[in-house]
Amino acid sequence: MSIAAQQSGPPAWRVLLGHVRPHRWALVGGASLSLLTGATGLMLPLVARDLIDDLSHDRAVTGALVLMSALVMANAALGALGSYVLRRTAESVVLGARRSLSSYLLRLRITAVDRSEPGDLMARVTSDTTLLREVTTDSLVGLGTGGLTLVATLVLMGFVDPVLLGVTLAVIAGAGTVLTLIVPHIGRAGRRAQDAVGVMGASLERVLGALRTVKASGAEPREERALHEAAEESWRQSVRAAKWSAAAGNTAGLAMQVAFITVLAVGGARVATGAIDIGTLVAFLLFVFYLMMPIQSVVAAITRYRAGSAALDRIQEALRLPAEPAAGPAALPAPGAAPAALAFEDVRFRYADDLPYVHHGVTFTVPARGMTAFVGPSGAGKTTVFSLIERFYDPDSGTITLDGRDLADWELSRLRSSIGYVEQDAPVLSGSLRDNLLLGNREADDDEVARVVRTARLDALVARLPEGLGTLVGHRGTKLSGGERQRVAIARALLRRPRLLLLDEATSQLDAVNEAALRDTVADVARTTTVLVVAHRLSTVTTADRIVVMDAGRVRAVGTHRELVTADPLYAELAATQFLTAAG
Ligand code: ADP
Ligand code: MG
Repeated sequence: MSIAAQQSGPPAWRVLLGHVRPHRWALVGGASLSLLTGATGLMLPLVARDLIDDLSHDRAVTGALVLMSALVMANAALGALGSYVLRRTAESVVLGARRSLSSYLLRLRITAVDRSEPGDLMARVTSDTTLLREVTTDSLVGLGTGGLTLVATLVLMGFVDPVLLGVTLAVIAGAGTVLTLIVPHIGRAGRRAQDAVGVMGASLERVLGALRTVKASGAEPREERALHEAAEESWRQSVRAAKWSAAAGNTAGLAMQVAFITVLAVGGARVATGAIDIGTLVAFLLFVFYLMMPIQSVVAAITRYRAGSAALDRIQEALRLPAEPAAGPAALPAPGAAPAALAFEDVRFRYADDLPYVHHGVTFTVPARGMTAFVGPSGAGKTTVFSLIERFYDPDSGTITLDGRDLADWELSRLRSSIGYVEQDAPVLSGSLRDNLLLGNREADDDEVARVVRTARLDALVARLPEGLGTLVGHRGTKLSGGERQRVAIARALLRRPRLLLLDEATSQLDAVNEAALRDTVADVARTTTVLVVAHRLSTVTTADRIVVMDAGRVRAVGTHRELVTADPLYAELAATQFLTAAG
């Protein structure tokens, strides 16, 4: 499901004002400078009229010339300052939107992430926000200053000659009618163009994330077509928007030419009849010329707004995705270091309303301390148990308690700070090995890091890497093997000094020697911490204090290895096949 399918919110202009509000005074300052620029420009025709007047009466023109040069220079200086202030403010609006979007995306509920394309979300932060720049300067300011300048110019023109003003207004009204037909097309094309950029981001993310598989499958041509198709769609829609924008801009330009010619004709006739003098006609024609700029900025404001409102919509859609609450005051006192006790009580859960239930009433209790193992066929719902404990999702019914308190009562960050979680296929993030470990606990000192490195049996790897813990790993550096990645993830989780340690198939890729060593480590940790492990290989859990056998979203049996081998046929079968394989 695309997030574009979300319900619609407030109109784009209101959203825009929300983004702009923190910068309103800078914007007003910049706009005032633009207005002053316009005003100095507007005075030129009046001075020109005096100049012509002086000339025709054989008077000295020095004063008028000096005034004109001063105006021209002031016009240039104010114009430069104004456009700098406006551009700077617009960039601040973009910055604000990027900051709030990135903070928001980090707080997204996992459910929201499950249903979105990360590449598309990325495009909303990077690409859509840039459009806010134009919307702010060109639309908001353009409409404000252009509109004011337009009105002021028209008023001045009315003083110069009301009849010629009437002629001008008639032409403008005609152009306005044409524009109302053109503008909606720009909005639609703009939205489609931005959506296509989102699709492209999504495809890129998909392909680059699995480039090895794409290459190994010889799927490049197919993926290339998909990427090109998205790029071309963005091109098509942008060209369409450009076509309508050009039409709008030229309608305004054409209207001004028509106004100029009409004013020249009507004004010429009026000069001939002596209704006005030639200086008045020249001044009026100059005004028509000066009308061009505000009219064009009003038209640009409207067209930009239509294109930019698409980006605003896309930004707002992302900001409406369900998110976790921002960290608030803690409802509960800070957890101590004591190991946690956990209980599932008749938990029913499905990942989405249109998906089947994954947990059909899961019940088990885990006392503080000791190791509890979860075993069962893949798809049984073991990983889901851990996801629910981390509150990536909330159960549909039933309760989960930590230390006797409902998980929903814990402040999320406090809950998660109690837990060390090694997810199935835990990734190594790009950055140094040390960064990867400190992700779990930024405050850990060097001794502590050295200790978990030894505990997780990473010391040989660290010694071998060219820059030890400082070596870049992950995307931008040394790639680690599956088993090395797993040990990094375990070290990261241990560094959190968790009260509850969740290991989801965390040693599945280790060699026998390392696995046996880590089994001892985990048994050691379990003396002071509550440890939950999901293990595919039963050999790793035979010594667990209790084993929870899960199948198809239900708990079949709970007991020790010895009890279950006789009490539970599924477990007995798993044990038999695996130990046979191991022995063979
Ligand atoms: P296990 O860890 O025991 O192999 P999981 O808990 O990962 O099983 O998955 C249980 C079921 O839930 C599977 O059928 C799986 O397809 C489904 N499932 C897991 N994660 C998601 C998800 N994010 N969205 C939808 N379905 C999911
Ligand atoms: Mg799993």
